Amino acid sequence: IVCTGNPQYNEAGKFSGYIGACVDITEQKQLQNQKDEFIGIASHELKTPVTSIKAYAQVLEAMFLKSGDERKAAMLVKMNNQIDRLTSLIGDLLDVTKIQSGRLQFNDTWFDFNQLLLELVEDLQRTTERHQIIPELQPIGSVYADKDRIGQVLTNLVTNAIKYSPDADKIIVKAKVVDGEVSVCVEDFGIGISHDKKDKVFEQFYRVSGDKQHTFPGLGLGLYISSEIVKREGGRIWVNSVPGQGSTFCFALPIKQM
Ligand code: ADP
Repeated sequence: IVCTGNPQYNEAGKFSGYIGACVDITEQKQLQNQKDEFIGIASHELKTPVTSIKAYAQVLEAMFLKSGDERKAAMLVKMNNQIDRLTSLIGDLLDVTKIQSGRLQFNDTWFDFNQLLLELVEDLQRTTERHQIIPELQPIGSVYADKDRIGQVLTNLVTNAIKYSPDADKIIVKAKVVDGEVSVCVEDFGIGISHDKKDKVFEQFYRVSGDKQHTFPGLGLGLYISSEIVKREGGRIWVNSVPGQGSTFCFALPIKQM
């Protein structure tokens, strides 16, 4: 049962009572739990066949490449890219169920931060022909955090930067150390986000509706998952943006001593 209300005061400013309302949200909670459970089961069941399809598609791609059949190999490359998208969507749904049930696991270790950023920039560069992804990195050194999860955050931010700047040709990834924190910013020159939507984009399933020219695919989960990861690592995530000019998404992590 959830109650909300306000204290009431008479003309002399004396407390005269309390007016409020209580709502039984048992049914709402049950529905929410059923929905979460369904998302969990469905994404888990989808994962196995997709993993198997991916394995076969990779074998076929290698076979066509070996036999010199470039046309078929090119089709398989496209097919593999789509399977990767599907895998990543399923991964996001699984992560959301893990976050909600408190089962998102973290495996913190020491790792070379610059090396991780450079490797990811190189990988992500292969996913776009239009944009040049420019790393501007200060030497950071070793950071203690979950390397894969931090990689997931950077991947989400750069993937969004690519997706939401269809007419731009560059994306800048900056990293520096300030006041005991390591901060990473991904700057794009795309559609931007209006001021009133800037905090909402980190909410679960929230998507700013696309403009007339472009419709952007997605589930509205990447930034929610990223913000949960950054918070769990003791950090913060935020965005600065000018509509029509671009956005800069940043996250900062506390530096831990070795
Ligand atoms: P998705 O991209 O799958 O919709 P996200 O959680 O990653 O989900 O992002 C939520 C919303 O925030 C997006 O739907 C989009 O409206 C907005 N957004 C995210 N990144 C950017 C960006 N770089 N530029 C403009 N809008 C963005």
